[in-house]
Amino acid sequence: MMFNTGKELLELTNKYDCSISDILIKKEMEIFESTEEEILEKTKKIYDVMKNSASESILHPEKYKGHIIGGDAIKMKKYADNNDTYCGETINLAMARAFSTSEVNASMGLICAAPTAGASGIIPAAIITGSEKINADEISTLKALLTSAAIGELITKNATVSGAEGGCQAETGTAAAMAAAALVELKGGSPKASLHASSIALKNVMGLVCDPIAGLVESPCAKRNASGVTNAMISADMALAGVESIVPFDEMVETMLKVGRSLPNTLKETALGGIAITKTAKALEKKIFNK
Ligand code: SF4
Repeated sequence: MMFNTGKELLELTNKYDCSISDILIKKEMEIFESTEEEILEKTKKIYDVMKNSASESILHPEKYKGHIIGGDAIKMKKYADNNDTYCGETINLAMARAFSTSEVNASMGLICAAPTAGASGIIPAAIITGSEKINADEISTLKALLTSAAIGELITKNATVSGAEGGCQAETGTAAAMAAAALVELKGGSPKASLHASSIALKNVMGLVCDPIAGLVESPCAKRNASGVTNAMISADMALAGVESIVPFDEMVETMLKVGRSLPNTLKETALGGIAITKTAKALEKKIFNK
């Protein structure tokens, strides 16, 4: 049950008339000689870590302060609760959850690096909020998480999920692509629509650079997680509405890698370019490291 490209993954879903998560479960069962129940049990442990990180900094904001960030998760949650927003409660709550995981990560708390620590806020926020919004059951929610893993596997195999190699498009872009596919499956969309959602999410941030202030995974990372979950949700909605990506998933992944390789090293996690070298960022760096 191996697949190396989006095309191969779709062929398998067609052949077995099943979802992306079903294929991933079959593959994991073969590799780990496990039952479906055991795979779902492992997935639940990961999801529990995600649920915790997505709520911790909302519940205990005082505990999760990084060198630069902290307190934005609770601000977003209060704003979402007011029910007087442009984007509605769902998106605002999702952003609060993404901020929460980023803040937990910034203060060395427990997160699930999916696909990386820097982009760890997007998938939990998207799946928790999506699941809650449509009242999905636990098994469907865990399966959605496995769908996101299938997309992450494909991008890891064929491109990169590292900001140091491909810029932030490879980190928060991949996380959004993973989450978008998951949200489509969660709401009953087809595997093809899941891949369209992933492609749309990738194109939305194609070329996004990695330029963390003081080299810390805090800023602009946290806000890119908040906007990343929004990217995942709007991409899923586009695909569920029937909007298709003109360029197919595999070509989009290949392009993301090429664009990443063509970015200068100053914009790939070196903190030598972009936002990291603004006057304000340099002053913060000096203050933090007492240089
Ligand atoms: S800016 Fe760089 S370090 Fe921060 S989330 Fe993006 S890729 Fe990761």
